[in-house]
Amino acid sequence: MTMNTQGRPTAPASEASNMAVETVSGSKGLLQHEALIFDMDRWSETGVDLPKLKGKAKSRLGKLKRTKPVELPGLSEPETVRHYVRLSQKNYAIDLGMFPLGSCTMKHNPRLNEKMARLPGFADIHPLQPFRSVQGAMQLIEDLQDWLLKLTNMHSVAMSPKAGAHGEYCGMMAIREALIDRGEAETRRRVLVPASAHGTNPATAAQCGFIVDEIGADNRGRVDMDDLRSKLEKTDDIAGIMLTNPNTCGLFETDIKEIADLIHDAGGYFYCDGANFNAIVGRVRPGDLGIDAMHINLHKTFSTPHGGGGPGSGPTVLSMALSKYAPFPVMTVDKRSGDRLIGYTDTLEELKGSDLQPFGRLTAFQGQMGMFVRALSYILSHGADGLKQVAEDAVLNANYIQARLKHLMTPAFDGYCMHEALFSDKFTADGIETIDIAKALIDEGYHPMTMYFPLVVHGAMLIEPTETESKAELDRFCNALESVARKAAQGDDSLKNAPYLAPMRRLDETQAARKPVLKWTPPAPEQIAAE
Ligand SMILES: *Cc1c(COP(=O)(O)O)cnc(C)c1O
Repeated sequence: MTMNTQGRPTAPASEASNMAVETVSGSKGLLQHEALIFDMDRWSETGVDLPKLKGKAKSRLGKLKRTKPVELPGLSEPETVRHYVRLSQKNYAIDLGMFPLGSCTMKHNPRLNEKMARLPGFADIHPLQPFRSVQGAMQLIEDLQDWLLKLTNMHSVAMSPKAGAHGEYCGMMAIREALIDRGEAETRRRVLVPASAHGTNPATAAQCGFIVDEIGADNRGRVDMDDLRSKLEKTDDIAGIMLTNPNTCGLFETDIKEIADLIHDAGGYFYCDGANFNAIVGRVRPGDLGIDAMHINLHKTFSTPHGGGGPGSGPTVLSMALSKYAPFPVMTVDKRSGDRLIGYTDTLEELKGSDLQPFGRLTAFQGQMGMFVRALSYILSHGADGLKQVAEDAVLNANYIQARLKHLMTPAFDGYCMHEALFSDKFTADGIETIDIAKALIDEGYHPMTMYFPLVVHGAMLIEPTETESKAELDRFCNALESVARKAAQGDDSLKNAPYLAPMRRLDETQAARKPVLKWTPPAPEQIAAE
């Protein structure tokens, strides 16, 4: 029995925790179960009292008057409040515990960022306000640009992309525009993408009209240089390469400079997926490696809250060769009036006289202002030396996990890792799979690690602790995963039915992804009558 430091038991005495727990209410522990909000609907209930209409009110809506019920669920105020609080508690969150989801950089979001983002001068402004009235916000964007350019040693940055994938799109569209300018867009269609790439890379290339050509990985988890060289031999159809560094195996691409040279010699451009920038920020400048375009996931590296689909922000840094094709809006600085006035332009007319040729526009307005504020707040509170330490600690933490677990689990590759530890399922007994380990981690109170990605590693388990976990928390996580991994190595069949303690047990995730039920349909009237 485990005791706390006061000598009180903190875990059940028996092995009962290993058994499926079913309750009458469906609630488990203090996690409340409830039906869908539409099923709870009672028309008579409402959280507001509307005044009775006086006299014979004449509708002024004419043909727009509603003829059918609105079909929004009717709930009292306490029911509504509980519904949303219960939903919020179904979410695992970085504020609850370590979130080891590899490639997602789920680090702590400093509360200082939130305080800054809520300052009225940033939070309450409108993108259509006259520039003169929002110069502070404009200056903030300019300062953030300056930091991003210094950290990457690149030539310019497009701030408007609203996620990493959107930044990829921005970079690849700039490459396409450059090829159009060279008169080679029709012939240079092939984009090389390593087999370990995040799914967004080939998707982006395809979306921009390129043909995706996969390059293999070598047995060190890096780009197979022989494969790359053979693909570049005697060709003039290369548009470029999309490469992640550190790559999705959590490894630095040690041949990256040679890769850049080979691609440039073949007439192509080098797109770097910068999602893993957290591992190298302050230590390596992508511009020194021959990169032409790279998105930065502000929500990953620079700690803006993310998960569950957003929000994101993916500023894209560009080399000198691509800068002129950066999308609208283009930042302008007008010094004519004496004081410096920062603004944006959207028209080619205003760019007359410059050599800029924006490929188009990606979003309305300037981008994710709230995320810009959070990111700059994070950068300034860390300072240059602090950012360097971020990368060092992120790498140290991942290596600690790898070192603590490698006696039991199989590291996918030899040697040190960067910011994430990658294991294969080689150590598991027959019949036990990665998903069983992930599900058992839920019972231990952890969101599972990234599973089955990257694809080049069998049954991959990708663990990214980030720098914001203490050694104590890393140990707590490692103890939990160690116990699950031991069961997996021993072939303990109980793992096959995990999770036991979650409100929902094993769900048919394939069905859920392939045939999602996104709309609630009311039961047929006969069915209601029968009840
Ligand atoms: C997160 C991630 C992306 C995509 O970023 P989003 O902001 O989710 O669109 C692309 N590549 C890699 C390697 C990533 O980890």
